[in-house]
Amino acid sequence: MPIQTVNPYNNKIVKTFDEISDSILENKIATAHNAYQSWKNTAVKERSELLFKVAEIMRKRKRELAELITLEMGKLIAQSESEIEMCASVYEYYAKNGEDFLKDKPIETTGGTAFVRYSPIGIVLAVEPWNYPFNQVARLTAPNIIAGNVVMLKHASNVPQCAQMIQSIFEEAGAPEGIFTNLYLAGKRIAKLAEDPRIVGMSLTGSEAAGSSLAEAAGKNLKKSVLELGGSDAFIVLEDADVDFAVEKAVLGRFGNMGQACTSAKRIIVVEAIAEEFLQKFGTAITGLKVGDPMDVDTKIGPMVSEDALKTLEKQVNDTVKEGARVVVGGKRIDREGAFFEFTILTDIKPGMTAYKEELFGPVASFFTVKDEAAAIALANDTSFGLGGAVFSKDTKRAVNVANQMDTGMVFINESLASRPDLPFGGTKRSGYGRELSALGIEEFVNKKLIRIADIIKK
Ligand code: NAP
Repeated sequence: MPIQTVNPYNNKIVKTFDEISDSILENKIATAHNAYQSWKNTAVKERSELLFKVAEIMRKRKRELAELITLEMGKLIAQSESEIEMCASVYEYYAKNGEDFLKDKPIETTGGTAFVRYSPIGIVLAVEPWNYPFNQVARLTAPNIIAGNVVMLKHASNVPQCAQMIQSIFEEAGAPEGIFTNLYLAGKRIAKLAEDPRIVGMSLTGSEAAGSSLAEAAGKNLKKSVLELGGSDAFIVLEDADVDFAVEKAVLGRFGNMGQACTSAKRIIVVEAIAEEFLQKFGTAITGLKVGDPMDVDTKIGPMVSEDALKTLEKQVNDTVKEGARVVVGGKRIDREGAFFEFTILTDIKPGMTAYKEELFGPVASFFTVKDEAAAIALANDTSFGLGGAVFSKDTKRAVNVANQMDTGMVFINESLASRPDLPFGGTKRSGYGRELSALGIEEFVNKKLIRIADIIKK
């Protein structure tokens, strides 16, 4: 894949970047390794000041950064601005709480005292996707920088300007060279990096194929890895839910970011007593929306990330329809320049069909009607993914009981799933392993070192 900005609004190439050579890569790793030697001994307070500064710069330059996101991957400008706000709050969260999270953890023991100290381990490599080009990077970077590690980023090839901008912001904030390094590299060069002893941890957010390739290389070299992969999240609406409220959240949950979020509400599962009413209101809510320039705040339907992504989605929809499913709303690309696809609802999807098995990474909701709560849970769990999910019911005790039976890393009740700095984020099954954000996010790439002090025996 070329390292290139292509504006999906008109499919025009904006700028192309060269991959770095092996010798430049070696220099950058050496610089990062060197930076780590002093960063690991830098006071947490000083590390925290750096993160506060990064957040401050992001807020100050919000509009400019948001425009870069919109240019490179087509996100609606208001959502790009929200991403920058969220991203700044992730840096601030670890700047504020890092010291507390990193405190020694005393252990009750006999014949002396003991505690666990969280020590940094070295260079962590972050392989990140394009769908939240600033925020995905922040989720891995903030906890690691505060913990005393340094970060090297291999970003998705279609967001090279966002990638370089993050490095510039760290420089502007006063980070010593090598604390945060952007690498223009192809995905296929990542496996080789796992062999480098200076790189001690590897994290990937993206597809199952890329995750499996990184985990294989990490495993072969006995490196710790974290994987945040795809999802096919269920959005369950029980018969006692407030239908209008649930519809509003479903629109947001499924079509925000043009449906290109790992935790999008990809499968809407509604109990039959209210299914017809829900479907009718859901369809109405996504009909007649303004299509256009994602830089224009009035636009409601912007482009998908790329022509390739659109073609993949179009084929998945066409295949599912050929297999017997029905399009209720939308269903095809929009006849205009750029990677535009209609907001779509599919029904009558049966086991074995394409949309039943695969993740649809775009603005297409798979709608299912089920007999009751038990059928909703069974359907929700009938997937190889296990990222997130949502349950809507006025009876929160009942909803928690449903959440308890869902095989996922996260369940939100009466809310569509959204990441927040203080809540752990991650999945189970083929959605990956490990957690980002919250106090748990800092634990992935630290050495939890036991220090034991024996009582001195006086004779
Ligand atoms: P992708 O193709 O897997 O790309 C993700 C990153 O991995 C990019 O930086 C990519 O680089 C790199 N990559 C690709 N092949 C690689 C390989 N063999 N070894 C190492 N790195 C490799 O994913 P995508 O299609 O851009 O993103 C969509 C997927 O990400 C969806 O499945 C979505 O659900 C998932 N996702 C998950 C989360 C989460 O937190 N769980 C969040 C966002 C997205 P190139 O661009 O150079 O190929």
